[in-house]
Amino acid sequence: MKIILLGASGSGKGTIAKKISADFKVPQISTGDIFRDIIKRKSTLGEQVKSYINYGKLVPDDITLKVLRQRLKRVDCQNGFILDGFPRNIDQAKSLSKISDIDIVLNIELPLEELEKRLVNRRICAKCGDIDSTKYSGFTGYCRKCGTKLFQRDDDKPEIIKTRLEVYKNQVSPLINFYGDKVQTVSNSASPDETYARVKTFLLNLEAKA
Ligand code: AMP
Repeated sequence: MKIILLGASGSGKGTIAKKISADFKVPQISTGDIFRDIIKRKSTLGEQVKSYINYGKLVPDDITLKVLRQRLKRVDCQNGFILDGFPRNIDQAKSLSKISDIDIVLNIELPLEELEKRLVNRRICAKCGDIDSTKYSGFTGYCRKCGTKLFQRDDDKPEIIKTRLEVYKNQVSPLINFYGDKVQTVSNSASPDETYARVKTFLLNLEAKA
């Protein structure tokens, strides 16, 4: 199954992607994660990418598409994939349509104030990628799964968050029109388990029809 997950940063799409990946045996491809990995490996490309990410701006399409193309060629994408964070604009969507078809576009929605709150409080485990919040009861600053110290992403600082959400509003919303009836909008205001239950039902129905 070839899935696109749309949703602002902090909408919970990363968590949903991980669950879909486990249940439907398709890899989660997050262009944000790929970029952060490139930055860690310290190269000219990494420096270039960092100069966009750290200011909440989109990495230029030519770099993003090259990185995505390479990832989609890997053998684990043969039975499908979940794109998390790609496409971010219409040009990227058009380029993607030349590389691969798409079965469903899941649009995860959350009100703006809630998004801002989630991002400011978000903390991440550098080792296993688990996401925690300073607002959860029992928050210790260490990963619940592997005990590693949690960190705050550079672009999860309040001033950068505003830019990122603005970029999202301007560039991603038109994608919903672009994909038309392939889009299934799901509100993530309920509990994460309830939201995922709805997502899973959509995907199982789609699989049954295929
Ligand atoms: P994310 O982890 O999806 O919030 O992405 C973090 C940052 O990576 C974004 O703010 C952008 O700077 C960059 N990024 C991720 N995906 C893309 C994309 N499809 N196109 C351009 N930049 C991207």
